[in-house]
Amino acid sequence: MTDKPHFKRIALIGVGLIGSSLARVVRRDGLADEIVGCARRQETRDAILRLDLADSVTEDAAEAATGADLVILCTPVGAYETLARAIGPVLSPGAIVSDVGSVKNSAIEAIAPHLPDNVHLVPAHPIAGTENSGPESGFETLFVDRWTILTPEDGTDAAAVEKIAALWRQTGSMIETMDAEHHDRVLAITSHVPHLIAYTIVGTATDLEERIRSEVIKFAASGFRDFTRIAASDPVMWRDIFLTNKDAVLEMLGRLNEDLSGLQRAIRDGDGESLQSAFARTREIRRSVVEAGQHIPPRNPGDAGS
Ligand code: NAP
Repeated sequence: MTDKPHFKRIALIGVGLIGSSLARVVRRDGLADEIVGCARRQETRDAILRLDLADSVTEDAAEAATGADLVILCTPVGAYETLARAIGPVLSPGAIVSDVGSVKNSAIEAIAPHLPDNVHLVPAHPIAGTENSGPESGFETLFVDRWTILTPEDGTDAAAVEKIAALWRQTGSMIETMDAEHHDRVLAITSHVPHLIAYTIVGTATDLEERIRSEVIKFAASGFRDFTRIAASDPVMWRDIFLTNKDAVLEMLGRLNEDLSGLQRAIRDGDGESLQSAFARTREIRRSVVEAGQHIPPRNPGDAGS
């Protein structure tokens, strides 16, 4: 691990699962002289102060960003453009603007046009999360042994990129840098389409008649359980992900539909050999995920029973 980064004033615009987990690390390790939290609702702002996640709170993003040397957008991606428009005029020269959004190309398109030339944009995406939302749901070990992907555009100030990399390394995260478009295609298949499948399966089951539905819940452990967990994820965040990563998600869904049709045909034709070889291949992929240490869900040590 390299030296700890240090900031004078970090403005967290949005302090939910991701923003509050980051705030906890910043607090724990003394990475900032001051943290200011921004949220729309009074109850969120009260929780931020109660949990000591920030020194002050405001509902005004421009007020939060004034005087900050680091501003991190931690809201759903759909809010980015309005927020960038609001903070652009007040940003200090040399300030870094970053984010944690799950989609990167449209994040850059929403933010970059509103930033002055003397401000550095370093987009980031920690590949870590749970199905819970809000400041209470965060925990300081969320990012440990997870990847954080940085997607700075060519020509971005190297020192600013390194400072954001150092911040995420301090959370226990590993860093990868890639082009935003590539990020969006990779995440479409590894995260976005799986969530869409979970939302679909759980929705379909819910539409079944009452008697069957109760049995769906009763026998959830047979495979349905993990889908219900994923399908409990925040509706606004996921709405924004599908609206802003439309092209990559549609491309991956097309491929998935083709493969699904192949399996459907194999089942109809009684082609056990094709089914078995498809499933043997995916079993190997699971082994690779385990070998890479990415199979263990994040655990909040503070949760009873976790
Ligand atoms: P969350 O728990 O719902 O938190 C969102 C926070 O943003 C809340 O504090 C909310 O408070 C505030 N907020 C929402 N709209 C706002 C606005 N217009 N202005 C100011 N504050 C606003 O969400 P999250 O799970 O932390 O996700 C945040 C971002 O992280 C998203 O872009 C998501 O794509 C990304 N991400 C999520 C995960 C995950 O698994 N959850 C993983 C990686 C990345 P108020 O409602 O009071 O405004």
